[in-house]
Amino acid sequence: MAVQPKIKKAIFLVWLLFVPAGMWFTYQIFPPHLSGQWLDLLAFLTLTSVVAFMPMVINNTPIFLIQWVSLATFLSFGLFVEMVFAQAAVIVLLLRLRIQKEQYFRIPLNLVMFFLVSLVSGVVYYSLGGQTGPSLINDPNSIWLAAVYAIVNYILNQVIISFYLYFIYKSKESYFGKDFMVETITTFLTLPLGFVLYMFYNQQGLLALVIVAVPFASLSIIFNLYYSTEKVNEYLQKAAEIGHQMAERLEVNGVIDLFIHKLSEMLPVDYAYILEVINEDELQLTRRIEGGAGLTSDLVRVRKSEGISGFVWEKQKGYLYNSKKDWLSFSKGLLSPDAESILAVPIVRNKKVIGVLMLASKRKRAYEKSQLMIVDILCSYFAVAMENAKHYELTKRQSEHCALTKLYNYRYFEKLLTEEFDKLVQFERKVLSLIILDIDYFKAVNDTYGHQSGNEILCELATRLSNLIGSRGTVARYGGEEFVVLLPEAKKEEAFQMAEMIRQTIANWPFTIQQSLDLKQHQVKITASIGVATAPEDAEEPLALVRHADRALYVGAKRAGRNRVAEYSSC
Ligand code: GH3
Ligand code: MG
Ligand code: MG
Repeated sequence: MAVQPKIKKAIFLVWLLFVPAGMWFTYQIFPPHLSGQWLDLLAFLTLTSVVAFMPMVINNTPIFLIQWVSLATFLSFGLFVEMVFAQAAVIVLLLRLRIQKEQYFRIPLNLVMFFLVSLVSGVVYYSLGGQTGPSLINDPNSIWLAAVYAIVNYILNQVIISFYLYFIYKSKESYFGKDFMVETITTFLTLPLGFVLYMFYNQQGLLALVIVAVPFASLSIIFNLYYSTEKVNEYLQKAAEIGHQMAERLEVNGVIDLFIHKLSEMLPVDYAYILEVINEDELQLTRRIEGGAGLTSDLVRVRKSEGISGFVWEKQKGYLYNSKKDWLSFSKGLLSPDAESILAVPIVRNKKVIGVLMLASKRKRAYEKSQLMIVDILCSYFAVAMENAKHYELTKRQSEHCALTKLYNYRYFEKLLTEEFDKLVQFERKVLSLIILDIDYFKAVNDTYGHQSGNEILCELATRLSNLIGSRGTVARYGGEEFVVLLPEAKKEEAFQMAEMIRQTIANWPFTIQQSLDLKQHQVKITASIGVATAPEDAEEPLALVRHADRALYVGAKRAGRNRVAEYSSC
């Protein structure tokens, strides 16, 4: 949820106005009991920072367990020192989370929260008669008061977080979910550690810190290792699932869209680029997604070993870059200027690189090594899915087009005609016109110049028809030397006019043939006879429309002398 700049400024002001002054007052009212313990303070501050720097990752959420160190600090040195350390911990903690520039407001936001939590729980503790410093060790009540301190501290923390979520982040989600439970349990399990540290420190001095901190840090590392393997397992499972989903997509664009979408769900992706190998030496950008929106790629080309993608292609290996300074020197400028982290992976099929995928994030160190491996696996699924989809599209195109003229064929035309007729029946369209044409005396052309030349004429005619009709309708080769044009929303007169234009386009300009029997170039004049019919006035079902246009062609045009247009009339 985006936080408005006005609120961000207000947060910073609140910190500036209240926190330094509040700390000064705290210092005056509850002066810290320090007597040359600078080394000890430094050790506690180090411990605070180390613990803040090593969150335990549970359910993909880093959980910072600094409360127990805070408790020991508070009991040992009093409110003021704890307050200062808590502020330091916030900064370490947010550095560890690698927040981006636009998230910097979270620093004062959390500083204010920690200040309030420290202040209120400290004041509650003192007003209940609690004391801080080494003397506490002999007081049997101290353990209960410390528990009260910890509980107030925790509850206040949670109350402020939910307040922030509601009023600053405007989040509507319930905050008391699984993460909340995990955090509550881990906090209360680790808090006794704080009390133990305090006791131990007062008896043993600095050695206590080492004894308590080392197992804690090890535990944190083990936890993180465990969760990273869990995460990798989870990723692998997801990758297999995505592989299956991609395999089900039949069209190239569908596969690419799904691939990018799933990648952005799994990883922090601000920019995604897919480049395809187009020849031995060049890659071409086929898809570019920036900020979630797909941009039409401007056909950028990259040579082998040029730029990041060319390098990945040459090395046939995926690369991970943590920040701009690692790649800027050899980038080709394809990437957005605010990109920092990059995952660049070759798309390999049958041991051959067929493309390169580049993912980028505005954050530094946004990707991990394990993610590079997962993306590598996903790319091989992607390569297979793309090959299948391309094959499917090619087969589909071939089954719908005529190989000679590249126009739609009869099969496609029939399907389209039925669809268009359905629209008419459902009143989505008012009229539908059909033009059918047959070349006059085409057999003679074949006999004179050869079949190959006849084919050349058919191809040129196909081009002339497509250029003339454009997006106004669909041209198809009906069979032999017969062509059809389907014109949705064209009334009879309009269709007739169009047919007349077609007739002239054929009759007025001779056709050029190169491959005649005598191997010379010839200009051949041909004509065509044309029939027109319009639904619903001439036909109530698709085949009748074709039949009636055909009838107009033979009766009205051919029989009447050819090179003319005729419209269907029922009488
Ligand atoms: P008309 O239609 O004016 O009555 O005369 P026509 O000579 O065009 O008549 P017909 O329909 O009987 O002959 C069609 C000819 O078109 C027969 C065949 O040689 C030729 N033809 C059909 N398909 C092809 C093709 O794919 N390539 C070539 N070169 N010729 C074709
Ligand atoms: Mg014919
Ligand atoms: Mg003919």
